[in-house]
Amino acid sequence: EKNYMKVEFLSKSTNESFARVVVAAFASQLDPTIEELSDIKTAVSEAVTNAIIHGYEYNNDGIVIVEATIEGNRIEIIVEDKGKGIPDIKKAMEPFYTSKPDLERSGMGFTVMETFMDELIVESQLGKGTRVKMTK
Ligand code: ATP
Ligand code: MG
Repeated sequence: EKNYMKVEFLSKSTNESFARVVVAAFASQLDPTIEELSDIKTAVSEAVTNAIIHGYEYNNDGIVIVEATIEGNRIEIIVEDKGKGIPDIKKAMEPFYTSKPDLERSGMGFTVMETFMDELIVESQLGKGTRVKMTK
């Protein structure tokens, strides 16, 4: 039986935990293990953080969209922003690559998403935004 959810919220870092909790609550109907649920929360956190700090560069008035679809025992999660976009996705996804080395970033967000989820697809258009699709 298919199920679907969508939430939108402002690009404020206080909403990172909101997004994490909402997706975890939705995913819990799959009866995930604690570890699976923790993996999903971590991946959502990384993607939402990226939307806020990179996509909108800390501007609090951007919209972050999170969607999740459950089908069978799979969950697909989409995190989308209408921010600045990624110039080189391949490079951005390399472990330890960060465009903000001056801050406390390690460049491991995409690597974490890739590790904790089964599939990760990143689509982006400069000046239009970024869409991260993850499946588990
Ligand atoms: P960390 O996640 O370890 O704190 P990071 O965010 O720099 O560091 P990644 O999450 O792997 O590392 O992202 C790599 C790079 O991809 C970022 O530094 C940024 O340049 C770019 N990026 C990621 N997500 C977005 C986004 N939503 N919009 C624009 N650029 C992005
Ligand atoms: Mg990151």
